[in-house]
Amino acid sequence: LFLSFEGIDGSGKSTQARRLYETLSGEGRDCILTREPGGSPGAEEIRALVLQGDPDRWSAETEMLLFTAARRDHIERVITPALEAGQIVICDRFADSTRLYQGLSRGDLREKVDALHDLMIGIEPDLTVLIDMSPTDALARAHARRGIEMRFEDFGLDLQEAMRAGFLGLAADAPGRFRVVDGAADEETVATRVREAIAPDLP
Ligand code: C5P
Repeated sequence: LFLSFEGIDGSGKSTQARRLYETLSGEGRDCILTREPGGSPGAEEIRALVLQGDPDRWSAETEMLLFTAARRDHIERVITPALEAGQIVICDRFADSTRLYQGLSRGDLREKVDALHDLMIGIEPDLTVLIDMSPTDALARAHARRGIEMRFEDFGLDLQEAMRAGFLGLAADAPGRFRVVDGAADEETVATRVREAIAPDLP
């Protein structure tokens, strides 16, 4: 089972991905927790190239290519081998993030993102948990955390609104794959919601 978590910055999806990993592992299920951009040594190098240093170093098109290259490496080296070994793969972000962050936020590249995905990636998660949250609530959380790799401020509140709408739009287009979970509650409550949302799909 290939399961991804998506949501805007500060939505708590990384925390929830980790919690689900701990819960399922605690139930004796064989899982791995991984993330994008990154997740394999090569993809983590690409992540650092894009997310650290001068934010204008790459054009939107180059960034899209770099993240796709990172995803390809992550799939080849980590995701596919784990799925073939029968493990549950929990991935913090996957292609939906690229559809929105690269497809929407930096020029309208969505068609190219989709074409590139078909050409070089080709797989989708079986299940995607979307942690839905208003950008103002998410921003408050993001401020409390403050990492060097946080793009919320570059993007601004309007764009985060567009991202949220974009994620909800992707979920509406693929209701079989998405489980939308309301992230506006304490960590424990959201973790319970996530566990319940995916329960019917677990092997
Ligand atoms: O999810 P995580 O916090 O690791 O993402 C790091 C940063 O990279 C975030 O600010 C996120 O918005 C950005 N990002 C991006 N394009 C992606 C995935 C993440 O710009 N495809």
